[in-house]
Amino acid sequence: MTGQASENIVAATWTKPLSPPEKLPTAADIVIIGGGIVGVSTAWFLAKQGISVVLCEKGHVAGEQSGRNWGWVRVQGRDTREIPMMLESQRIWEGLAEEIGEDVGFTRGGCFFTANSSKELQSFEKWVDIARDYDIGTRLINGTELKKYVPGSAVDWAGAMFTETDGRAEPHKATPAIARAAERSGATILSSCAVRGVETAAGSVSSVVTEHGTIKTSTVLCAAGAWTSMFCRSLGIDVPQLRVRGTVARTAPCENVLNGNIFDHRLGIRRREDGGYTVAHGSVLEHPVTPASFRYFFKFLPALLQELKLVNLSFGREFVDEWTTPKVWALDQPSPFEKTRVLNPSPTPSVLKGIRRNLDSMFPQLADTPIVESWAGMIESSPDVVPVIDAVDRMRGFHVATGFSGHGFGIGPGAGKAIAGMLTGKETGIDISALRLSRFFDGSPIRPESSI
Ligand SMILES: Cc1cc2nc3c(=O)[nH]c(=O)nc-3n(C[C@H](O)[C@H](O)[C@H](O)COP(=O)(O)OP(=O)(O)OC[C@H]3O[C@@H](n4cnc5c(N)ncnc54)[C@H](O)[C@@H]3O)c2cc1C
Repeated sequence: MTGQASENIVAATWTKPLSPPEKLPTAADIVIIGGGIVGVSTAWFLAKQGISVVLCEKGHVAGEQSGRNWGWVRVQGRDTREIPMMLESQRIWEGLAEEIGEDVGFTRGGCFFTANSSKELQSFEKWVDIARDYDIGTRLINGTELKKYVPGSAVDWAGAMFTETDGRAEPHKATPAIARAAERSGATILSSCAVRGVETAAGSVSSVVTEHGTIKTSTVLCAAGAWTSMFCRSLGIDVPQLRVRGTVARTAPCENVLNGNIFDHRLGIRRREDGGYTVAHGSVLEHPVTPASFRYFFKFLPALLQELKLVNLSFGREFVDEWTTPKVWALDQPSPFEKTRVLNPSPTPSVLKGIRRNLDSMFPQLADTPIVESWAGMIESSPDVVPVIDAVDRMRGFHVATGFSGHGFGIGPGAGKAIAGMLTGKETGIDISALRLSRFFDGSPIRPESSI
């Protein structure tokens, strides 16, 4: 445990040397683009059914969002469209370590959304009613009961919304472990293998072109996280998507002041398996403005208005980068995905300062506990903050799974099961019809039910 205090155990996921594939399979039933939790979970469920699947990741498995997130595995506070998939995901998380024979750091320590006033506490009642419909044991607790769970906090909260069955897992462990499980079940997982594009014959997918060669296939899943919109645009497919930067840190192992996850407007904090805490600011979402911000402005307006107090807009390098990136490219030349192997934004110094300040004021016992590692990740979101999981009409065989927003890690294994069902046509019992891509284009109202 002591060695983990100072090592970059999280960033090691994306700073280790790249290992390009020695050999490329020439054909597969299904090719998946993207080695985040969504891609690898889908590959695992497909491989377990004996389907030949190749997953191509341009950098490292879990090198982007799936290795950088807070690690919360929660159903609490979710959009109703995600709940069935999330409940299935929790069931998978529960047995995951045993099934794959590897530690993923999953444990159920409970999830608290704190309230600083009785009015704020009452505002949670709407979601508690939803939880009741799904038989989720979410309840409101008062400040006195909350103190029993968080005795070390210096804050006198009015209470919290609390779901005892919610939990957490370790992002730097879980996604690579699922990828290895997929490999053991027969999937081919290739890192340092960017997909440049997709070829078609008579309007149907015929192959995927990677930087290392071509793989014949009739079925593609684009689970490319923050790159999905750009990849799809190069094929003439419109997938509205924007990015927000999240800064995260972890403390050294320390006194146990909380064995769960707390979300407060000052701090998001959860206990880590190594005995430290993963911490982030509770009310800062940084959106680097890019040409896509203007292109999708009206589609994202409801989400923007909802998060208005939290969103910090910045104009900088990201705008120029996106502006100067080609919209289409030749498939025999390096693509933008090889140029940026790993999307690795820097943590924002002022946000890190805020995290330290808020941690010390909320948990004074941790004031001497050092923050030993910090990083940032680009969260990608759809306009209504829930994923798109769909087949694309205009290109037979091409599918998209993206827009998981700030809550795609916990739902990842359940999404993998649902997506595998979509790709094979097999019933999974998870209804994903509300996650169709056309909802952003057919005049349906765009209504975010939960926050990013
Ligand atoms: C700071 C932060 C905090 C978060 N906190 C939580 C949390 O507590 N709980 C939770 O549930 N969720 C959380 N999330 C959200 C969660 O991490 C994401 O929703 C989830 O990881 C998305 O998984 P993914 O597989 O869709 O995408 P990613 O993990 O981003 O994976 C996509 C992969 O596709 C690859 N790729 C892209 N283009 C190509 C190409 N052309 N060829 C090959 N590969 C390509 C990328 O390199 C990338 O590795 C958080 C996210 C961030 C950034």
